[in-house]
Formats: sequence, C-alpha cells, structure tokens
Amino acid sequence: MNVSDTVVRNLHQHLVQIAEMKTQIERGPRQVKAAILQVDNAKDALLKCKEAIKQKKMDADRKQLQLREREAKVHDWEGKMNLAKNNREFQAIKEQIAADTQANSVLSDEILEILEEIDSLQIAMRGFEEKLKLIEAERVKTESAVTGKLAVLNIELERVEGNLAGLEKQLLPEFLVQYKRLVSNRSEDSMAALDDVSCGGCYTGLPPRILDSLRKEQAIVCPSCGRLLYRPER
Ligand SMILES: [Zn+2]
Repeated sequence: MNVSDTVVRNLHQHLVQIAEMKTQIERGPRQVKAAILQVDNAKDALLKCKEAIKQKKMDADRKQLQLREREAKVHDWEGKMNLAKNNREFQAIKEQIAADTQANSVLSDEILEILEEIDSLQIAMRGFEEKLKLIEAERVKTESAVTGKLAVLNIELERVEGNLAGLEKQLLPEFLVQYKRLVSNRSEDSMAALDDVSCGGCYTGLPPRILDSLRKEQAIVCPSCGRLLYRPER
C-alpha cells in the first residue's frame, strides 16, 4: 500500500506535538498542587510556633501566680516572727522563711528562662510569617502562570487536533485502518523516522528490502519494533 513520506511524517509530527502538549497540560495542576502544599507546610510551621508561644505564656503565668502566692506567704511568716512565743518557734519561722525565699528564687529563674524562650519563639514566628508571605505570593504567581499557560495550550491542542483530523480524512481507507490500529495502541510512539539505515525508534539496522519499500513510498513497519517507518525530511 502506497503512502508518501510527507504524509506519514506529517501525521507523526502532529501526534508528537499533541503528546507534548498533553504532558504539559497534565503538569499544570501538579505544579499548582505542589505550590499549595508548600503554603500548607508554611502555615503549619507558623501555627505550631504560635501554639508553642501560647503554651509557654500559660506556663509563665502559672509560675508567676505561684511566685506571688509564695511571696505573700513569706510576708506572712515575717509578720509572725515578732509574735513568736519562744526562741524555738522564732528559729522555726526563720528557717521556713529561708526555705521559701530559696524556692522563690528558683521559681524566678525558671520564669526568666521561659520569658527568654518566648522571646526566641517570637523571633522565629516572625521568620515563619515572612516565609509564609513569600510562599503564598509564589503560589499566586504559579497559579496565574499555570492558568494562562493552560488556556494557551488548550487552544493550541484543539487547533493541532483539528489539523490532525483533517490529515486523517485525506488518508486512503486501507492505510487509515492500519494507521488507526497503530495509533490506538502506541499513540505517537507508533511511528519512527529512518535514521540513516536504522529505525529511529529502536535503532535496529534495517534490511535492504525494507529500505527499498521506503524508497517506493510503501507503508512499512520496522520488523524489530513494529513502528511505521518514514524517511526524514531531506
Ligand atoms: Zn524499530
């Protein structure tokens, strides 16, 4: 069955172009999804930081309350010192005051440490906020770029598919059957240009009878990989 190189080459070019466009179209939503995931991760990190600050503040408040209560207690003991009935009682109160004062000092240190941790966390939080802003801006940019690109690609895809349909209409019925069978199985991978004397699809050297058929512009497939062969543009 005769078919010109130009026809097969043209069909193949269209199929390759369509496949490339479809790949790009599929990539779009994946890019958007990845950008959204980055935003989610940044939000998550910020939220965790804020939560940690909240916990530390609660911790500091609780300890501060405890400290005030104990300080009041020390004050009470100090009042009772003058009312001590004897030296033993006086000594006992004095020891109690010393113990509570020591405990308060430890508590004060702990509070100070927590406040310092809160300071560090707040610096980190501002970093997370900045990062989130950048990532969010990046997401908006990606989404708008993808939307624009998809619009162009879809129009272009429709155009090339229309052109291909036009080419297919012109094929001889006999060849059309063979072509449809090949394309339905392997799509754009169903054809290959000749590479010198080898198949450009599987790189196997072709026997002279195949090369001869190609010269006679006969529809012929590579005996090795089954791709429909055509001679490249000269
Ligand atoms: Zn081959």
